[in-house]
Amino acid sequence: MSPTPLELSTLGHRIRHQRVSHGYTLDELGELVGIAGSQLSLIENGKREPKLSVLQAVAAATGVEVTDLLSPEPPNRRAALEIELERAQSSSVFRQLGIAPVKVTKGMSDDTIESVLGLHRELQRREREAIATPEEARRANTELRLKMRAANNYLGDIEKLAEKQLSAAGHVSGALTHRTVSIMAEQLGFTLIYASDLPGSTRSITDLENGRIYLPPASIPGGHGLRSMALQAMAHRLLGHVRPTDYADFLQQRLEINYYAACCLMPETAAVNFLTQAKKDRNLAVEDFRDAFGVTHEAAGMRMTNLLTEHLGMPLHFLRVDGSGAISRVYENDDLPLPQDVTGAVDGQIACRKFSARAAFSEQNRTTEHYQYTDTPAGTYWCSTQTGSTADGEFSITVGVPFDDARWFRGRETHKRATSTCPDEACCRRAPADITDRWADKAWPSARVHMQMFSPLPRGTFPGVDENEVYEFLDRHAQG
Ligand SMILES: [Zn+2]
Repeated sequence: MSPTPLELSTLGHRIRHQRVSHGYTLDELGELVGIAGSQLSLIENGKREPKLSVLQAVAAATGVEVTDLLSPEPPNRRAALEIELERAQSSSVFRQLGIAPVKVTKGMSDDTIESVLGLHRELQRREREAIATPEEARRANTELRLKMRAANNYLGDIEKLAEKQLSAAGHVSGALTHRTVSIMAEQLGFTLIYASDLPGSTRSITDLENGRIYLPPASIPGGHGLRSMALQAMAHRLLGHVRPTDYADFLQQRLEINYYAACCLMPETAAVNFLTQAKKDRNLAVEDFRDAFGVTHEAAGMRMTNLLTEHLGMPLHFLRVDGSGAISRVYENDDLPLPQDVTGAVDGQIACRKFSARAAFSEQNRTTEHYQYTDTPAGTYWCSTQTGSTADGEFSITVGVPFDDARWFRGRETHKRATSTCPDEACCRRAPADITDRWADKAWPSARVHMQMFSPLPRGTFPGVDENEVYEFLDRHAQG
């Protein structure tokens, strides 16, 4: 392996440092080691790789070991500044600008170099942040979804890790208790602390120095959201996550911590046993799975996408759709025709009005699941949808399968049936001709600005998080 230019540059600085501290000129040391002063200058500037015999001669002439000269450390602060500047000026970000690099001279002060370096550091920081434009964020999201689709949405290593942690904490079966989650945290060296002043941009904060995980207080006593949040915070540690390098990395980590939490709340062995029995009984239902493990309908539906294909050989789809019809969470490996934008992103797109996911909003009785068959250009699907509402409005959770697999599910005998021809606009996007004629020139609707999924784009290392608030929070609590 040949040294990179940067290593040559450090080597040059170390040689110059020895030469200058012994009071030699270039020509004087050159004569001692048997090369011209101009050659030595090229070596000191990192432009030429010295022969081993020259290195040995320099070491002997200056009374150090060859290994000293080869150390990767800059010999002093000035050299460190110069090396960092050389590195910054040779980066592609800088060279793209077409600006001539600063030539460092002996007379240039450290402060001047510091100031130029400050500009370079800021340039690099902005370059890193700009990576996540909305379009690139959507592409990263799509890539991850397709990667997970190819893997049946199943991550075996995380499944095993979760089962190991659960059994170490003494969990046997049924719903995971808050108490067990606390024990799991303790075994990792963390105490769970509920704080009412968590910064608005965070869900939890982990204090690595003092071994604390700060969580918001439960809005509903006994509510189950906190178990998931605590497990996700622990997952970052267990999975060895380091600061995300880009948006794709951030998404991958978020997927993994969600996955880990889901594995703890609905452990693979118990969950697969439950689902296998329900299939045998031809009584599969998201609501039963949800209730058996004490989780939300959404969490139960998503968990089925991890297990049904891998363990029961069943392709399926999952949709979370809001009241306006926009898809906010999605998984499919059953070829359900879903709307996509030019980047291939499904999130944020409007689902077909005929889909169960939207038809369920018009149900009067919403205490049970809405069942529906839908004929599409890709075949017939059976879906079960549960609606709910939050402060942000209504939403629906749908789990569905191709027609042939409907026979394993409760609700297969439904008579509700719809036909969707989307993406054909005549399906549900365009009004019938007579109404269009009636209103086309007499209506002027004002659009509500649509909340774009990825619009509040990440600033800083932790996307979407106000680091200043986080550090202030930690400071405040670490003293207490
Ligand atoms: Zn449609």
